[in-house]
Amino acid sequence: MAGADDSMDVPETDELTPPNRTLMGPGPSDVHPRVLRAMSTPLVGHLDPSFVEIMDEVQELLRYTFRTDNRWTIPVSGTGSAAMEAAIGNVVEPGDTMLVPTNGYFGGRMASMARRAGGEVVEVDAPWGEPLDPAQVSDALAEHDPDVFGFVHAETSTGVLQPNVPELTAAAHDHDALVIADTVTSIGGVELRVDEWDVDVAYAGPQKCLSCPPGASPLTLSDDAMDKVLSREEDPRSWYLDLSLLEGYWGDERAYHHTAPITNVYAIREALRLVAEEGIEERWERHERLAGALKAGVEGMGLEMNAPDEYWLPSLNAVRVPDGIDDGEVCGELLERYDLEIASGLGDLDGEIFRIGCMGHSARPQNVIYAVTALGDVLESMGADVDPGAGVTATRGALE
Ligand SMILES: *Cc1c(COP(=O)(O)O)cnc(C)c1O
Repeated sequence: MAGADDSMDVPETDELTPPNRTLMGPGPSDVHPRVLRAMSTPLVGHLDPSFVEIMDEVQELLRYTFRTDNRWTIPVSGTGSAAMEAAIGNVVEPGDTMLVPTNGYFGGRMASMARRAGGEVVEVDAPWGEPLDPAQVSDALAEHDPDVFGFVHAETSTGVLQPNVPELTAAAHDHDALVIADTVTSIGGVELRVDEWDVDVAYAGPQKCLSCPPGASPLTLSDDAMDKVLSREEDPRSWYLDLSLLEGYWGDERAYHHTAPITNVYAIREALRLVAEEGIEERWERHERLAGALKAGVEGMGLEMNAPDEYWLPSLNAVRVPDGIDDGEVCGELLERYDLEIASGLGDLDGEIFRIGCMGHSARPQNVIYAVTALGDVLESMGADVDPGAGVTATRGALE
């Protein structure tokens, strides 16, 4: 029958030429050219002996980067939220109680996922823009006796780095709760020690401080956490993210479960090789130094950071929007005039902060000077009370 198909036009499109942006928002960050090259190498099958070797290498590199000996360390197929849902959806069983924080966007996402897993959610309060107070976490643990405690190590929505992690995990373990940490914006960017800090489960993302495109996301679980997962009475609600099934593929058996995103596994392997080459501690130090120069620049031009130094997050700098300035317009102008991506605030900090990432391959002197120069120029042209020259001078001084 000559129908709709015949009359449908062939869509006319041009070859893909995306704009050449400098990515300094909350992620993705600029991808290292070596990672892009790894992604253009030929596919092999997901059970090819050569790929099995690549899987082993990725797992070893992930352990190095997480600072863990956990056998259960894999890249989950999907973005950071897939690793997050794999963590929460497997560890939280129906009827379990999970304690989550209220101090940012991603604590809220933890709560949604825990509810979908059949868990009951209780909260420990802290305002957006502040870290959790260990004493309040202890009180909440005593009051609610949760099975699982989740916290966000690096809150990308607020630019807050959670200090005192060993204190939080010790308190949770005193109450027999397992600890799930969101390390999406900390892995490979700020100090993170899964084993030494006694974190039971940590999930992360590749497109923040690892400077890798999204698609395969780090996850690690201790034996204790995995024991809970493997002795569940009820299957997790997701088949795709069921860790007891994924064990067949990433464990010793190497049996088909789903087709691994081969190209993304190549990518994260190369991104993690870059971490190992640089050295994990050197990499944390570089982020602190480069983000420190960025911070010096924004403060030097007359702007204010949202977080005090004690819990400043180098990989995501929350900067107060100056009076009378529309944050969305500034972000739009930076993109238009400078091909530079930064982000505005969300949730309780909507309209109040800029979020400037300093992650992975984007954490370089030329990027930092560029961002400070561009931000100063755009703000000045909009009539903000800033001194762009003083900002650039401060950044340059900090980089010397
Ligand atoms: C980006 C991010 C996520 C979610 O990762 P996606 O890759 O966007 O799914 C979770 N937690 C934090 C803290 C993040 O910054």
